[in-house]
Amino acid sequence: MTTLEVKDLHVAIDNQEILKGVNLVMKTGEVHAIMGPNGTGKSTLSQVIMGHPAYRITSGEIYFDGQNLADMAVDARARAGLFLAMQYPAEIQGVTNIEFMRAAINARRPEDDPISVMDFIKKLDEKSAILSMPEEMSARYLNEGFSGGEKKRNEILQLLMIEPKIAILDEIDSGLDIDALKVVARGVNEMKSPDFGVLMITHYQRLLDYIVPDFVHVMMDGRIVKTGGPQLAKKLEAEGYAGLRDELGLDI
Ligand code: ADP
Ligand code: MG
Ligand code: MG
Repeated sequence: MTTLEVKDLHVAIDNQEILKGVNLVMKTGEVHAIMGPNGTGKSTLSQVIMGHPAYRITSGEIYFDGQNLADMAVDARARAGLFLAMQYPAEIQGVTNIEFMRAAINARRPEDDPISVMDFIKKLDEKSAILSMPEEMSARYLNEGFSGGEKKRNEILQLLMIEPKIAILDEIDSGLDIDALKVVARGVNEMKSPDFGVLMITHYQRLLDYIVPDFVHVMMDGRIVKTGGPQLAKKLEAEGYAGLRDELGLDI
């Protein structure tokens, strides 16, 4: 079992405090969702976990399997089994999807045992089929010229290929029509196992109809202010964040 533990995390950008004491524990085998209004620090949390250099941890810690992430470079975090699908996936010219995914898979294997070309192609065929993705997309440069929906689908292809232990999916549902949303959900559900945990950041309850979470967290003003089950997402959808603010007596 692998755990991700965020402890009283405070994060600043340009001396402005964005995260104000986030606490979160998740384990492989679990599905977590974070909901919350715009600008409350959800993407910041995901970027900090992955090690983006723009964000400064002012206090608190993040542990991955008991190891302090502060001591691990970004590539070491990926090798250890962390994965982030960013809200806005970057376009990278000169690197094809195939090259990227092979490098990522091999980084997680012993140096003298890279995945064989045949095994890689077989796996790519299999995973592309799950997502109804044309295989030629993988021969293209990473995300270049991809539509918003194709980028999201491609992030899920990477997820299925790389098979991390814990994945953070930041607004993987944004900009998707209902058919594309179902495809993306199929990919995530395919990953579900006792050896995989996922943290989904989303604005919409709709995603959680297709990928049912064990835990729903609400983030407001840089903190997780409430945690519950799937019903919490339904309640938010019905009552909005204002209702929760009143209930918790929050003045934000
Ligand atoms: P969310 O994902 O919940 O919408 P973000 O984490 O993207 O929120 O942003 C939280 C706050 O931090 C916002 O006020 C945003 O403007 C600010 N912020 C995020 N990233 C940066 C950055 N790289 N530079 C400056 N401000 C940022
Ligand atoms: Mg946002
Ligand atoms: Mg965001």
